[in-house]
Amino acid sequence: MDKLLYINGEWTGSELEKINITNPASGEIVGTVPNGGATETKQAIEAAHQAYLKWSKLTAYERCDLLERYYDLVLENEDELARVLTLEMGKPLHEAKGEIKYAASFLKWFAEEGKRVYGRTVPSQHGDKRLQVIKKAVGVVGAITPWNFPAAMITRKLGPALASGCSIVIKPAKQTPLTAVFLVELAEKAGIPKGVVNLVTGNASKIGDELLSNPLVKKITFTGSTEIGRVLMEKGAKHIKNLSLELGGHAPIIVLDDADLDLAVKGTMASKFRNAGQTCICGNRIYVQENIYEEFITRFVEEASKLKVGNGLDEGTDIGPIIDKNGYQKVEEHVQDALSKGATCVLGGEGTPKNGAYFYPPTVLKDVNSTMLVMHEETFGPVAPIQKFTTDEDAVELANQSPYGLAAYVFSESNRRGTKVVEALDYGIIGWNDGAPSTAQAPFGGMKESGMGREGGIEGLEEYLETKYVSIGV
Ligand code: ADP
Repeated sequence: MDKLLYINGEWTGSELEKINITNPASGEIVGTVPNGGATETKQAIEAAHQAYLKWSKLTAYERCDLLERYYDLVLENEDELARVLTLEMGKPLHEAKGEIKYAASFLKWFAEEGKRVYGRTVPSQHGDKRLQVIKKAVGVVGAITPWNFPAAMITRKLGPALASGCSIVIKPAKQTPLTAVFLVELAEKAGIPKGVVNLVTGNASKIGDELLSNPLVKKITFTGSTEIGRVLMEKGAKHIKNLSLELGGHAPIIVLDDADLDLAVKGTMASKFRNAGQTCICGNRIYVQENIYEEFITRFVEEASKLKVGNGLDEGTDIGPIIDKNGYQKVEEHVQDALSKGATCVLGGEGTPKNGAYFYPPTVLKDVNSTMLVMHEETFGPVAPIQKFTTDEDAVELANQSPYGLAAYVFSESNRRGTKVVEALDYGIIGWNDGAPSTAQAPFGGMKESGMGREGGIEGLEEYLETKYVSIGV
């Protein structure tokens, strides 16, 4: 798969140096994309600006029709998209198919929601004035996306951007551009006009710097690490760039002693091991009330030990490879650090790096404490550290001891106790008896160092709109 950049409706960049894309399950090269930089990004931005002038003038109904055609095409190509996604990213094929459906749902939901961009009329204290509030698309959007959800992190931005009348320049992660190219091919097929969607692969900081410094770009939407989010904020400060940032997380899972244990184990499994633990809302630290601690661990280990590690394309695989060597080394470091500080490993604990592919088994650690790296840094791997707590208040205090505030989970059958815990947690997304809360129609995003802004839901559309207030003398 030798792919190209997509700028102003043209597939271009064949003269540029090529970047190899590897399959993390085998280390094999599965495709190439051009190494684009500032020049290509500038061309894409200018094309996006011209396209925006026309696209934003279409009615929301016209944009909806095109986005719905796009949605249909994504679903029609679900199997092939999922295969490409697994090839370059490694997640099990059934998860990749789930991601494609999830990715498509943002196109459908925002296509509809674009019809409900309402303004309002505000009563004036003067009889000869009419006060109007109207909404308009922000303009050209720069979207920088990560590798862990190569399809959904694009459509979660593209859906609301296009529905509101913006155009977009996408910079996918270097590990997973092939899914992005496939999605853009389908946008073209759906009839999205030239220049409305553009794709530039290549040097992250050169592309990022152009997106952040070019005055034609009115908004940057980013999903990735807190570290890079901070860099983008600093660079964007010069032009007061409008930013939405979905950054790192360190999700706590709290299991109260009145929880339905089957549900708590199932929900924790779903949250912890999806995508081999490589999502920003994966449970990172698990707090279990002391009187059910041992029983929870026994049941959790029993379930986790059934998970099959392997190539995501193989039937029956539950956990694919870690994305790369750096990711793998971090997982190893976290486990070794915990063991050296007194944790006990009750499952897994040793990875198998082989020929450029890095597999790590489901791992369960008990007797952990907050001095351990795994309890305060994002592990991004299938490692479940489980700590004991005494009172509900202790659990909340432990959970809130983090600079992150993205997702948190609570398992409790009690309305009263669950409500109190949920209300006390400083997190933007909470799953109460639910290990998989994300969905297109609900706001997704974090507090504290997990970012700013929301994606999904009506909040997700607002991010792409400016508010204009008009005072009319009559
Ligand atoms: P992850 O840890 O998930 O790889 P990163 O924050 O490193 O997260 O990357 C997320 C996205 O940000 C990727 O598309 C990456 O290429 C991009 N990126 C990395 N560095 C920069 C930068 N200096 N400017 C703009 N984008 C960047």
